[in-house]
This record gives sequence, structure tokens and C-alpha cells, in this order.
Amino acid sequence: MSKKLKYLVWHCTATPEGRFVGPDDIIRWHKAKPPQGRGWDRVGYSKLVMLDGTIHSFVDENGDDIVDPWEVTYGVAGINSISRHYCYVGGLDKDTFQPKDTRTPEQLISMRFLTKVFLLKYLHLDVEVKGHYHFAKKACPCFDVEDWLKKEKEIDHLIKLIGETQFRGLDNAG
Ligand SMILES: [Zn+2]
Repeated sequence: MSKKLKYLVWHCTATPEGRFVGPDDIIRWHKAKPPQGRGWDRVGYSKLVMLDGTIHSFVDENGDDIVDPWEVTYGVAGINSISRHYCYVGGLDKDTFQPKDTRTPEQLISMRFLTKVFLLKYLHLDVEVKGHYHFAKKACPCFDVEDWLKKEKEIDHLIKLIGETQFRGLDNAG
């Protein structure tokens, strides 16, 4: 029996800053037989956010409250049946190959969009946005997810304030 969706988990490709990675690369890494790939029957993520912000969907989502068997991706063993896994391209410093937040401005916009859509769509479920590191001893996705969400909330709050100020201005004018 399928369980209700619980997590959006962010990942990175763990590739150097600025290096192009496309959907075909992910498919090869995950589905090709070893040693070329992991030999999985599917990819590890539902969506990929490329360097230019393009969002590629590997797996369609039918929008209901459960992760149907065909919607399951292999991002984190143990929680895949209650999770969506999204991935952005990057995550490593280009010189040292150490974990680094390499998200481009375009990726940030797409990631913000995808995260908000997820939270709004599943508001009625008790969903949470996490990073891979919450579930495994890993740096992935190489940025502080809580900190990012907090900043996003502050931006939302500012936008709301600006909106309210403008509406007040309109009221006064009327
Ligand atoms: Zn990961």
C-alpha cells in the first residue's frame, strides 16, 4: 500500500561549479550497468534543475497525496516511498572539489518555484522540505536547507509588506 507523501528532498549532482550536466547524464549514471552506472531500473530524482534554471522532469507526478509505485525515485534508501527527490546541477567547488553552494541565480529561481509549488500543493499533508544530509551522512545538497527556507520566508514577508504598502497607497489615493 502506498503511503502519503511526506518529504521533498533536495540533492545536488556533486559536480564542479559550472560544469554542464543534462538529463542524459543522470540517466546514464543511474541506469547504465556497472561500472558505467549504478544499474538501477529508474533514476534517483523526479526533477533536475540545470545550470541555466531549466527544469527537467524525469518522472511525472500525478498530484495525488501518495507516492505511487511508478512515481518512486531512488534518492535516499528507506524514505523513497514517501518522498520526492529533486536535484540541482553542481555542489562542488571547481578547484578543490569540496562541497560548495554553487547554485546559479537561475537555479535559485527554479528551486524556489519548485519548493513553493510543492509546499502549496501539499499544504493539507504534513510535508517537509529537507536536504539529503538530513537522512544520510552526506554533504548533499551542499547548502543549508533550513537557512535557505528561512531566507525565502523573509523574502515572502518583504514582498507581502511591499504589497500591503502599495495597496494602502491605493486606498489613500481613492
Ligand atoms: Zn543527494
